[in-house]
Amino acid sequence: MEAGEAKSKKAGGECFYEVFEEEIHQVIVGNRLFKSGERVAIGASGGKDSTVLAYVLSELNRRHNYGLDLFLLSVDEGITGYRDDSLETVKRNEVQYGLPLQIVSYKDLYGWTMDEIVKMIGLKNNCTFCGVFRRQALDRGAALLKVDKLVTGHNADDIAETVLLNILRGDIARLSRCTSITTGEDGPIPRCKPFKYTYEKEIVMYAYFKKLDYFSTECIYSPNAYRGFAREFIKDLERPRPRAILDIIKSGEDFRIATTTKMPEQGTCERCGYISSQKWCKACVLLEGLNRGLPKMGIGRPRGSGNDQKDTKARSTAKSIESKQCGSLDF
Ligand code: SF4
Repeated sequence: MEAGEAKSKKAGGECFYEVFEEEIHQVIVGNRLFKSGERVAIGASGGKDSTVLAYVLSELNRRHNYGLDLFLLSVDEGITGYRDDSLETVKRNEVQYGLPLQIVSYKDLYGWTMDEIVKMIGLKNNCTFCGVFRRQALDRGAALLKVDKLVTGHNADDIAETVLLNILRGDIARLSRCTSITTGEDGPIPRCKPFKYTYEKEIVMYAYFKKLDYFSTECIYSPNAYRGFAREFIKDLERPRPRAILDIIKSGEDFRIATTTKMPEQGTCERCGYISSQKWCKACVLLEGLNRGLPKMGIGRPRGSGNDQKDTKARSTAKSIESKQCGSLDF
């Protein structure tokens, strides 16, 4: 009897794994996320989402002969007691999954760690600096690895929260692209989200039952406020309407921007050459502020950055970046 119970439990678990992996495979194939021979970096923070993504993607790559060269790419923000510990997890994943690992650090790229930045600016706006720097750091790491694409572990819950947050902030530019499964095709490296339709609870269950090695502590500098409210709100909606998350994503996909809405024009930063709708990219503006001991320079109106002639546009960009926080997100 006991043996039979154990067998049926095992069968149930196997069934869940199969369905979970098959759904991801269908999303990858249905959206033509990859081409054979491509080099693909997996944004790896050591958290559950990116760990499951690294594990599942390497399994599917073998099983279905995608023909991909996979790599792990991590960003070291320089947060003592958080990122140093989570990077140890990624280093173990490198060995466990046999995927080469590239780490890029804020200290090497920008000359500042997040610990040093927080010491200067305190715990307000720290995620603004961190989010802007991370975006570029990932692109620079991807360039070092010479990859064709970058995949991140953003799941359905994350995307639904982001849709709501962008509506609440009136951030039309982000709203129009936050539900796309692939973004940045006009930028340095396209980014894909194979977990776009995968619920967070499925990822947690998969990681737990597969006994994957992941890191679950939250960032010590996480304010987690606004996104936390959106998260709770969606949890409340899910009780009477379990498919609320997918419905919000669908609504985000179906939004259309009026042709009269003025959108930022993409160009390149005059200082570092990174993609930017301003004379200087946001990372260069923030960095200039830090180096001059004026850290608020890049937070509000970017005076002194040479952008004054584009004041209105700059204000709207600053506003949208100011509100970008990762909270407990992987990337
Ligand atoms: Fe950076 Fe995220 Fe921590 Fe904010 S919560 S400081 S964005 S790692």
